[in-house]
Amino acid sequence: MDAEQKIIALRETVANFIKERQWGKYHLPKDLSMAIAIEASELMELFLWKQTSIQEVVQDPILKEKVADEIADILIYLLSLVNTLGFDLSNIVTKKMAKNRVKYPASEFQGNYEKR
Ligand SMILES: [Mg+2]
Repeated sequence: MDAEQKIIALRETVANFIKERQWGKYHLPKDLSMAIAIEASELMELFLWKQTSIQEVVQDPILKEKVADEIADILIYLLSLVNTLGFDLSNIVTKKMAKNRVKYPASEFQGNYEKR
């Protein structure tokens, strides 16, 4: 299974979960965009007021699972939005990365997020 097939399988898993529960009526663009932001907030809350390092996340199985769950929640709602709007996820990411390469040429942004 290549990367694109995995994305398609994940999209179908999310779509089937929603269809089985007849939740499609709730999955409007407004609600899904809000759900993505809420799940992103839940991810941020895990790190709020802490200076958690990468190692601390990786080496703490409980925290690592909480982070993984929130990442999954974000992606699940994102995939539902992609499904709802009928986007080709690979295509839109490829197109946006091309825009990002123009906006942030590697030659001008070496080790720096600001243009020199
Ligand atoms: Mg969550």
